[in-house]
Amino acid sequence: MPSTALLIPRLRANYPQFAFEQAEDFLWSPSEHTVYYTADDATGHGFLLHELSHGLLNHADYSHDIELITMERDAWDKALELAEEYKVTIDDDLIQSTLDTYRDWLHARSTCPQCEAIGLQIKKRVYACPACRHTWRVNEARICALRRSTVL
Ligand SMILES: [Zn+2]
Ligand SMILES: [Zn+2]
Repeated sequence: MPSTALLIPRLRANYPQFAFEQAEDFLWSPSEHTVYYTADDATGHGFLLHELSHGLLNHADYSHDIELITMERDAWDKALELAEEYKVTIDDDLIQSTLDTYRDWLHARSTCPQCEAIGLQIKKRVYACPACRHTWRVNEARICALRRSTVL
């Protein structure tokens, strides 16, 4: 199985429209057209192809949190296609646990802090509770920034 480091030259050659830069974390930056990767992660090739997929799918901004989950799922679907092409395996547990993180995140931010009913997102960073009419603000979340900690 090729390591992340071995994949990078091939990806650079095949996707000259993107930059690939080593960093502390895996991340797709839409503004910089850059895939950031860590070289020595055992599951790195999966995340690397995932971040590249965000780029290939033109994932940038979103207005509703649920769209972020759709983007994440689509990026994994695309990553699985790329994995066949590049002869790497992406563990399904990795995909499911990453998607679970997003589902937990969405559940946490959409839960009304006053009565625990599920709120509706009425603006990019504002939710409203249909039960008690409380509204609350949430922090901005970036694509793929939720992997290591649950951010509200
Ligand atoms: Zn409420
Ligand atoms: Zn992602």
